[in-house]
Amino acid sequence: MSRSVLVTGGNRGIGLAIARAFADNGDKVAVTFRTGEPPEELTKLGVLPVRCDITDAEQVDTAYKTIEEQHGAVEVLVANAGVTRDQLLLRMSEEDFTSVLDTNLTGTFRVVKRASRGMLRARKGRIVLISSVVGLKGSPGQANYAASKAGLVGFARSLAHELGSRNITVNVVAPGFVDTAMTQVLGGERKEEILKNIPAGRYAQPEEVAASVRFLASDDAAYITGAVIPVDGGLGMGH
Ligand code: NDP
Repeated sequence: MSRSVLVTGGNRGIGLAIARAFADNGDKVAVTFRTGEPPEELTKLGVLPVRCDITDAEQVDTAYKTIEEQHGAVEVLVANAGVTRDQLLLRMSEEDFTSVLDTNLTGTFRVVKRASRGMLRARKGRIVLISSVVGLKGSPGQANYAASKAGLVGFARSLAHELGSRNITVNVVAPGFVDTAMTQVLGGERKEEILKNIPAGRYAQPEEVAASVRFLASDDAAYITGAVIPVDGGLGMGH
C-alpha cells in the first residue's frame, strides 16, 4: 500500500537515495530541501519537494501542512538532514557546537514531534533517524557532531518506549563513511587512514544506507524498535 513518506534533507546525498528507494516502492514521497532548487530528478520520480530549514519550528509546521494536504499525514518519517562543523575542542566555538546540535538533534526533535501527532492518531507509524558510527565511537575534531549523533540514540530509545504500544517503531541507522558531499571534503591522507579501519575496505554507497531504511519502514520490521542498525562495513564493530 502506498504510504505518505517524508525524508528530510532528501535533495541530495543519502537522503536523495532514500527518497528514490521509497518512490521506487510506490510510496508517496516528500522531501525537504533547505538551499538552492531541488534536483530535476525528484520531479521525474514524482517526489514532492518542500522548502524547510529544520532549525525553524514554524517552517517545519508549514512543510507538514503542505505534505498533509497533498499526501495525507506522514506515516513514515526519515530524519536524515544533518551537518558537520568540524574543529578540535580548543578551537571549537560555542556557535560551532550549538549550531550542529540545533540541526542534527533539536532539528530531529522538531520533525519527529510534528510527525508523531498524526502517527498517534493513526495508531501506526515508522520513524527512522540517521545517526552515524561517529556517534558511537567518537571522532577527533567532531565532538559536536558525535554528541548530536549519540543524542539521537537516547532520543530514539525514549520514543520507542513512549510510542511502542501505538504501533509506532523508532529506529536508528548508523552509517559509516558514505560517498557523498559530506565525506568528499576529507583529504586523501585522512581518507586512506579511514579506509584502513573499514573491514569492507571501501566507503558505502548511499543506496546501501537507503536499503536498511526501507527495511526498517517495512512490515517485515514491525517488531524492531529502539534498535541501532550499523551500515558501516564493519567500522564500528562492538559499539
Ligand atoms: P549531505 O551534506 O550530502 O546532505 C545533507 C542534507 O541535509 C542536505 O539535504 C541538506 O540540505 C540537509 N540539511 C542540512 N542542514 C539542514 C537544515 N538546517 N534544515 C534542513 N535541511 C538541512 O550529507 P549526507 O547525505 O552525507 O548525510 C545525510 C545524513 O547522513 C546526515 O545526517 C549525516 O550526518 C549522516 N551521515 C553521513 C555519513 C557520510 O559519510 N556521508 C556517515 C554517517 C552519517 P541542503 O542541500 O539544503 O544544504
